[in-house]
Amino acid sequence: MTDAAPLKALLSEDEIPTHWYNIVADLPSPPPPHLHPGTREPLTPEDLAPLFPPGMIEQELSTERWIEIPEEVRDIYRLWRPSPFHRALRLEQALGTTARIYYKYEGASPVGSHKTNSAVPQAYFNKLAGRTRLTTETGAGQWGSALAFASQIYGLTCDIWQVRSSFESKPYRHALMETFGATCYPSPSDITEAGRALRERFPDTTGSLGMAISEAVEAAGKDPDASYSLGSVLNHVALHQTVIGQEVLKQLPMLGESQIDYLFACAGGGSNLAGISFPIIRENLAGRQSTKIVACEPQAAPSLTQGEYRYDFGDTEGTTPLLKMYTLGADFVPDPVHAGGLRYHAMAPLVSFCKHEGLMDAVAIGQREAFEAGVLFARAEGIVPASESNHAIAGAFRQARQATAEGSSPVIVIGVSGSGQLDLPAYTEYLSGQMSDG
Ligand SMILES: *Cc1c(COP(=O)(O)O)cnc(C)c1O
Repeated sequence: MTDAAPLKALLSEDEIPTHWYNIVADLPSPPPPHLHPGTREPLTPEDLAPLFPPGMIEQELSTERWIEIPEEVRDIYRLWRPSPFHRALRLEQALGTTARIYYKYEGASPVGSHKTNSAVPQAYFNKLAGRTRLTTETGAGQWGSALAFASQIYGLTCDIWQVRSSFESKPYRHALMETFGATCYPSPSDITEAGRALRERFPDTTGSLGMAISEAVEAAGKDPDASYSLGSVLNHVALHQTVIGQEVLKQLPMLGESQIDYLFACAGGGSNLAGISFPIIRENLAGRQSTKIVACEPQAAPSLTQGEYRYDFGDTEGTTPLLKMYTLGADFVPDPVHAGGLRYHAMAPLVSFCKHEGLMDAVAIGQREAFEAGVLFARAEGIVPASESNHAIAGAFRQARQATAEGSSPVIVIGVSGSGQLDLPAYTEYLSGQMSDG
């Protein structure tokens, strides 16, 4: 049980990245532009103006490699960044693997996930533009609580539409949102036209992220003082999350490693995966790393492994711009599996493009396999991972077992996107043998 090597790499606050990394600048070819839903022409900044503040629009369409993080945002980041990077030695021993396993933990943020990395700059740029209210959707509630937290920092009102199945099964998440001062509605609701139309069409629906987006977009569009805010999928969200991967690249040598052989991250809309992997794809493209990147998505919403790569809407009602992405269709309603944050019908355009160009791979993982991995991880490392993160852990376990069988010792890095303290009902279900494999 003795190993002299350090178990975790902790950076100081002045090592928080000063810039976000925009992968668009380094991709082998330009990714397909977002299109206007009416004209099917590439989106202009004016098209986005009713929904987003100028700072976000600029970032969404930017081709600059580095975008400076405002000092005011870095100052808030200091509440939880830099996040720790761990050697999972006890986990390796529990698995009896020859692989060396590391993980980057984003669960120590104020709301227990990576989502605050984007919520804070989004609220900041809205405040800068004079907006007073933000609207958004949330699945399991991680994004909603992150935006609720960020909104109250800047004195903004925050209205959140939460997928109905999660609203009902995860009461502590809306307690968290309300603690941060937000108002939370189960979606589809009867306070928007989109919500009323959806309830008429699908009276028994458990809701979906696509439906909740339609409601939040409508509410923002009708209020000149409001902006819509999205927690994943869009380019500017992926951009904000790149603080994760930049920190990993600084932390890796602190634990005596220079190369990452495999990187696993879970993929719902694609933001934590983008955040940890894009800085590493940059290293791959420059020949400094040759990391195999694996997106781990749930079997219940397998956009990357079974979707089509085409233009589709981000929401159910067809009100968002058209995005080129792997999609299961905008009206896809997944089974209400526990990994609420992974239940999206499509995948971020930049992640989709990277997959399409062969810069990353993807696997789909069932929820029982995911929770089996999560429980093993919790018992070895003392951290209960978020339901979503369990998919990345399970993906890494497949690789670790293969390495053991081959007698090789690759370096495997896992993005653990959040804490599972509020997912404990799902753990109970798994431990009592009641969980379906969906
Ligand atoms: C929201 C969420 C996800 C899924 O969203 P991505 O945009 O794919 O990262 C994954 N893990 C956690 C903990 C989340 O809160």
